[in-house]
Amino acid sequence: MSSELNARVEPRKDTSTITGILLLAAAFLPWVAYWVLTRPGQPAGIAVALGISCLLLAQQLWTHSYRLLEAASFVFFAGAALAVFPIGNTAPADNAGPFGFGALLLIAAVSVLVRRPFTADMARLAYPRQYWHNPAFITLHSIISSVWAGVFLVCAVFTAFSVISVTGPLAVGLMVAAFIFTLVFQSKGPAYLVKQKYRDFEWHVPLTPRSSRQQNEYDVAVVGAGIGGLTTAALLAKRGYKVLVLEQQSQPGGYCRSLERGDFAFSAGVTGITGLWDSGPVDRLLRHIGISPDGRFAAHSHRYICKGSVIDTGAGMQSTVSALGDVFPEERDGIGSLFQDAAEAFFQLHEYSRQFDSPLPDHLVVRLMGDRAAAHLPRTYPGLYDWLDKTLQQKLDEHLRSDSLKAIIAAASGQNGTTPEATTGLRALMGCLGPQIAGTYYPAGGPGALAEAMARAVESFGGNVMLNYRADRILTDHRQVRGVRSGADIFQAHAVVSNVNPRTCVLQLVDANEIGGLYIDFIKSLPMSRSAFIVYAGVDADLSSYPSLIENIDGDFTILINSNADDRMAPRGRSSLTLIAPMGYRDFPPRDERDYDDRKRQFAALLLRKAEDVLPGIGDRVVVLDAATPRTLESYTSIPDGALYGFDQSVGSRRPHFRSPIKGLYFAGASTFPGAGVESAMMSAMICANDIAGWPRDGE
Ligand SMILES: Cc1cc2nc3c(=O)[nH]c(=O)nc-3n(C[C@H](O)[C@H](O)[C@H](O)COP(=O)(O)OP(=O)(O)OC[C@H]3O[C@@H](n4cnc5c(N)ncnc54)[C@H](O)[C@@H]3O)c2cc1C
Repeated sequence: MSSELNARVEPRKDTSTITGILLLAAAFLPWVAYWVLTRPGQPAGIAVALGISCLLLAQQLWTHSYRLLEAASFVFFAGAALAVFPIGNTAPADNAGPFGFGALLLIAAVSVLVRRPFTADMARLAYPRQYWHNPAFITLHSIISSVWAGVFLVCAVFTAFSVISVTGPLAVGLMVAAFIFTLVFQSKGPAYLVKQKYRDFEWHVPLTPRSSRQQNEYDVAVVGAGIGGLTTAALLAKRGYKVLVLEQQSQPGGYCRSLERGDFAFSAGVTGITGLWDSGPVDRLLRHIGISPDGRFAAHSHRYICKGSVIDTGAGMQSTVSALGDVFPEERDGIGSLFQDAAEAFFQLHEYSRQFDSPLPDHLVVRLMGDRAAAHLPRTYPGLYDWLDKTLQQKLDEHLRSDSLKAIIAAASGQNGTTPEATTGLRALMGCLGPQIAGTYYPAGGPGALAEAMARAVESFGGNVMLNYRADRILTDHRQVRGVRSGADIFQAHAVVSNVNPRTCVLQLVDANEIGGLYIDFIKSLPMSRSAFIVYAGVDADLSSYPSLIENIDGDFTILINSNADDRMAPRGRSSLTLIAPMGYRDFPPRDERDYDDRKRQFAALLLRKAEDVLPGIGDRVVVLDAATPRTLESYTSIPDGALYGFDQSVGSRRPHFRSPIKGLYFAGASTFPGAGVESAMMSAMICANDIAGWPRDGE
């Protein structure tokens, strides 16, 4: 694993930034001609400028590459020529300085205001088309174009009052400085902006393995034994750190757990785990911490029910593409091109992630891959960046026409808790198309068995996992963590990793004065993702002829037949079902209200009735029944609102950075980057563990 981490992305070398600058210089040629050749009473320079503008415009028409500056320059010089020659108004010739710089100021200002900064037109040459609308690219060039606007403003005012001459050293010097700024800021700017954004989190905790010697003193304390907590703990313990995990429940896993009722076992919620293809991120992580995935996971077979049609897509990309093509023959080409497009981006994502085991938040891209990486990655991975800048719906619309087909492919975006319109490209790849490309898997023995194995892995590396220990307080002093208090026990630690949702952590476990009001307000402003109502039903019926995972798009619920993925989850001839339907937290009364139990029974009966449409006759064969409401989920994991995916992950939403403003306090899990789900929680933990222990490529 480490040797893979040592590899680096080698961005494609090219000279297109220089070409962009030359293009910018060329765009100023008409203006130079205007300023140099035009004198009061001598308007010939305007004709020359118009001529050059025509040539530049013709070149654009020829190459279909339209740029605002040249087009607006043409309009200006055409207007000036009209005013001077036929009409005889010599103002444009008499006031070349203020007129020229004033016009350029207007062009630059308008271009920034309409979010099409004029310098971006030239810089586009250096980037694939897919990156042109990226917010970071637009922001960078808004800054550059604003600097140009400032230069134009100064020159316009000073030439208007004859403080400087239009071709004098100050005007020329300012223009040259703006060119140099453009050149430098284009390559250094992305990294600079990212560093500025994260400057509050740039603390350092010097931590060497096993530096903690006292009995209750640890190098790292992890609060919460969800997948993010267990992964962080296992990775750090393997690297020699003295690690403690505190978990409030009697079993590890958080949302990724199993439960037993009578002779039946159920997944508490997780239906499938991704990232498990040969050398996929989860496959590699598990091997790294000594858990062989071989024989431990069963690939799901999928069924979709949409507009009354039943579509079995089997498992994996080929069978999905061909099954969908059979049902929608007129869309066969579009289905093929969508999956090809997604697969290219998906594997580009994993090719670049592979260097560091996870996609990286932008500030780590800069720190680990160098200042230029933020500018180079879009060129190296154009297919990926095309997805990152779009929503799932936009991608579906690019390739497909049928709404039913789009709904089927997007059904998995429910795994993100978002509609296709609100699903970001990254989540579309990781949580929707990716699983259809690379498969989803059910852990043998249910999701809880995976969590148990991970807890044992932590212990096998010398870590300490303490169940039934609720952390009451994360201890801090002068904005630095000191440890964790659980009841009467105090555990000192040099770093604390909170696998608890950051809102719970910040509002309940940390001293408000230490973490700061601004950060608390930020965390409070983040909406939670949606919750669910879940039914666990053991039925006296053999359902083995059905696929293991059924998405009823018409009825908006999912059926996981645990026993079809692992026949040990139910007695022979019987079946174990987990039924999941989305539900808002406030759609259900609090647990202490009188009608809570009644409502729970009603909802369970309703969901079972809906499931009967898919699995006829099961209603009469239920021998074991239980249910979880959003309130159950909340009380089990302490995630506010029983949110399935931590914070809402819709387009435009934000997630907390994995470092908090308190020195030594980290977050790992579904509520931070890259998002929700078992695979993503593991990735967030890999980021966190590597950040604490030092990225292996640094040779630490
Ligand atoms: C119904 C449902 C279906 C899902 N389906 C899928 C799926 O099919 N595929 C998929 O990949 N993901 C799925 N997910 C999401 C996935 O389960 C989660 O994103 C992931 O497991 C979250 O891991 P985490 O590391 O954030 O920890 P969490 O699961 O949030 O666990 C946090 C842990 O911290 C503990 N804790 C909290 N406070 C304290 C405290 N004060 N002291 C000590 N311990 C504390 C909790 O008890 C818990 O064990 C599903 C989730 C749900 C609820």
